[in-house]
Amino acid sequence: MNEKTEKLIDKKGIRGDGRKVDELRPLKLQVGVLPNADGSAYIEHGKNKILAAAYGPREMHPKHLAQADRMVLRARYHMAPFSVQERKSPAPSRREVELSKVIKESLEPALFLELYPRTGVDVFIEVLQADGGTRCASITAAALAIADAGVPMRDLVVACAAGKVEDQVVLDLYDAEDKLGSADVPVAYMPNLNAITLLQMDGILAPAEFEKAVSMAMDGCKKIYEIQKEALKTKYMVVKETDKEIEE
Ligand code: ADP
Repeated sequence: MNEKTEKLIDKKGIRGDGRKVDELRPLKLQVGVLPNADGSAYIEHGKNKILAAAYGPREMHPKHLAQADRMVLRARYHMAPFSVQERKSPAPSRREVELSKVIKESLEPALFLELYPRTGVDVFIEVLQADGGTRCASITAAALAIADAGVPMRDLVVACAAGKVEDQVVLDLYDAEDKLGSADVPVAYMPNLNAITLLQMDGILAPAEFEKAVSMAMDGCKKIYEIQKEALKTKYMVVKETDKEIEE
């Protein structure tokens, strides 16, 4: 797309990738994709492709990081060198350190940290391909990987962004909109508990636009939540069918 002359939203309200302003990108979620991890998940959110692997709760290593009164959740967000157009250095960047912290903090409220003192849960997130909104897609996949590891949770966490493009509030920004738009509001949410666990804003929005963006992102989260729950159920449905075959 010619960034200067071509509009991100045309006169009919259709965006550069063919979506309406309140439409999510296509989503695919799979659970239990990495047999060597305790729990795992794979997400394709638009052109984002992300793997998450979880371990625990297990004894904390190194031991001095263990907390006597609670479990410690560690999250590592990493972008593969081939995940973006220009090769990214495999060394952790400032952005990856920040996103690891943001992801950890958005998942913590879903865990019963106080019930597992001295233990740790680790979640490793590998972005294989990035196209805007990777922190949100990572949170959605990481929550599934933790659930798949059998860690008790208050609710799944699901994340989605809304933002402002061409003076309109739009749902689920892809890379070009993220870069050329004027604001981005990532939201992580526990739909069953109706609780927000992450709320960030990059750019400037009027109060009414901000409210619209948050409510649009929450609606997006609710739609992704259904796909997330379906992905978890699908894994166990396959197991059940295999059990049936063994019985027969
Ligand atoms: P998020 O992925 O959560 O939207 P950012 O707003 O920081 O986080 O990044 C937006 C997008 O910019 C990413 O999804 C990715 O497509 C792109 N991006 C991030 N880091 C790099 C990089 N080092 N090189 C090229 N593109 C990048």
